[in-house]
Amino acid sequence: MGKAVGSEKLGNLYSGGKVRKRREWRGLKDTLYDYWRWLKIMKMLAGFLMHPHNLKGMFRYRWMLNYIAVPAMIDKHTVGLRGNHLKIAHEEYDLVAKDVAQLLNTAFKADKYCGNDQELSKRIVVLDENEMFTIMCGFPNLKSISWETAAVYVAVLLHGDAVTHYLDVLQEMGVPGDVCPMPAAEAGVVIDGDMPVFGACAIQCNTTCDGSLMGNGIMARAYEREGIPVFQIAAPLRHLEEGVQEYAAQEIRNAIRFIEENTGHKWDWDNYFTCMKRFNEETQHRVSWMEMSRTDFPQVIGANLALYSETTYMAIAGRVQDFLEADRRISKLAKESFERKEILVPEYRHRAIIWGVQSQYYTDFLPWLQNCWGILPLVDMLSLVYFDKVSEDDKEQAIYDIAKLYQEMIMRNRTHGGYEVLLDDLWRFCEYYNADMVILWEHISCKALDGMHGLFEERAREHGIKLIWVNHDLMDPRVIGRQAIRDDVNRYMRSVMQEEPIDPSLEILDDENAW
Ligand code: SF4
Repeated sequence: MGKAVGSEKLGNLYSGGKVRKRREWRGLKDTLYDYWRWLKIMKMLAGFLMHPHNLKGMFRYRWMLNYIAVPAMIDKHTVGLRGNHLKIAHEEYDLVAKDVAQLLNTAFKADKYCGNDQELSKRIVVLDENEMFTIMCGFPNLKSISWETAAVYVAVLLHGDAVTHYLDVLQEMGVPGDVCPMPAAEAGVVIDGDMPVFGACAIQCNTTCDGSLMGNGIMARAYEREGIPVFQIAAPLRHLEEGVQEYAAQEIRNAIRFIEENTGHKWDWDNYFTCMKRFNEETQHRVSWMEMSRTDFPQVIGANLALYSETTYMAIAGRVQDFLEADRRISKLAKESFERKEILVPEYRHRAIIWGVQSQYYTDFLPWLQNCWGILPLVDMLSLVYFDKVSEDDKEQAIYDIAKLYQEMIMRNRTHGGYEVLLDDLWRFCEYYNADMVILWEHISCKALDGMHGLFEERAREHGIKLIWVNHDLMDPRVIGRQAIRDDVNRYMRSVMQEEPIDPSLEILDDENAW
C-alpha cells in the first residue's frame, strides 16, 4: 500500500457486495486528490437532486436508480492509477458524469411526466443513443437529447444488471432472447412505459444492424403516438464506396430540412463551422494520444480512451467547449508523463489491440487486463473511427462530411462496410501499434461479428498474433458473468502462454454482486 504503481494487491479491495471494502490507498497526495474528486461528484449528485423535476424523475423511472452508482463507476475505472494517469482519468470520467447530469436535467425538465416544460420541449430534438450528434451543430438554439443514452447505455456502465428487467419485458412480448441486448433493452424501456416524453421531433439512424432497426421501429411508433414526428436517416452500409456518397449527402440535407420544418429553427453555418473547428482539434488530441501508444510508453489507453472517445466523437461532436479544454489538459498531462517515461502498471508484458464490441457491463475489464496480467489495451475498435479533417468553411463539402461521419459512427464503421474494415484492418493496426496480442470481444448476440470467427483465427495464425476470445452478452451479465469473462483470459494466459499474473489477487474476484 503506497504511492508507487502496483504497491497494493488490488484484489484485496473486493468485498463481495455492491461496493468495495474501502477506498484504494495511493499515497497521501494521490489519495487526497482522488477523495477530493469523489467529494465533487457527490456534490454534483446532491445538486442534481435539488431540482424537483429531477427528484420526480428519480422516483418515476426504474433505470434512474442506477445513478447512485456514479462514484463507484469512476472508482472502478481509476483502479491502480497514480499521478498524471489518475488525473487524466478524472478529467475524462468526471466531465462525462457532468455532461450526463446536464442531459438528465434538461430531459426531466421537459418530460411530460416530470417538469412538463412545454416551451423547452419544443426546442428539443430527440436522437438515438448510437448516432452522431453532428447534425445538431447547425442548430445552436436547439437542444439534442438521447434518452436512450441515459436509460440504457450509461445505466449499464454504472450497474451491470441495470437493464435485465427491460430485457425480460421484451422477451415476454415474444421477441427472441438472442437479439442484441442494446436495442432489446431500449425497446423494453419503451414497452415498459419508462420512456421520458419530450421533443419537437426525433432523428433516428439505421445504426448498425437488424436488431437496431427493430428497436428503432418500436421507438418510432412510441414517438408518433406522442405526436413527435420521426425522420430516419438511412445511411449507406458500404461506407467505403464512392458511389453511395451522393445518396448519403442527400439523406443529411433531408434530415436538416425535417428539423427546420418541425422546430421553426434555421440551420446556422457559422455555428456549424465553429463546432467543426473544435471537432478537428479534438480529433488531433485523440490521434496524438494514440500515437503515443505506438511507443514503449503509452499514456491514454484502455477504457479511459474508449469511453471518453465515444462521448467526444459521437455525442459531443464539437458542440461543447468544456470537452476541448479537457482534451488540452489531458494532452498536457499525457505529454509530461510520456517525457518522464511513466508507466501505468509495474510490468508491461503484452501489447494488445482490443477488437469487437465491448461488454457494457464490464468496461473495467480493460483496467483488469493491465493490472492482473500486464496486458496493455493500447487501442480498441470503437476508438478507431474517422480521423480525416472535416471542412471548416466549405458548405458543400460540409454536407458530405456529415454524411461520412454518420456512416462511420462508432461500431457501425467496422461492423459494416465489408471485411476490409472488420478483418483486414485489424492486422494493419497490430503492425502499426506493434501489438503481439488481440483481445477479441465475442458478443454472442452480435450477428454482425459472430459469422467471422474462423476467419479471425486463420488470420491471427498467419500473422503470428496471439488471439484471445472473450465471450460476453453486451448488457446481460446473467448469460456470461464477469468472472467467466476473466476466465477466458486466465485460461489462455496459463495454458497457452504459461505465464503467472503480475497481481494474482485479481485472477479470481468476488464481484458477482458488485455494481
Ligand atoms: S453490438 Fe452488434 S448486434 Fe448489437 S447493435 Fe451493435 S452491431 Fe448490432
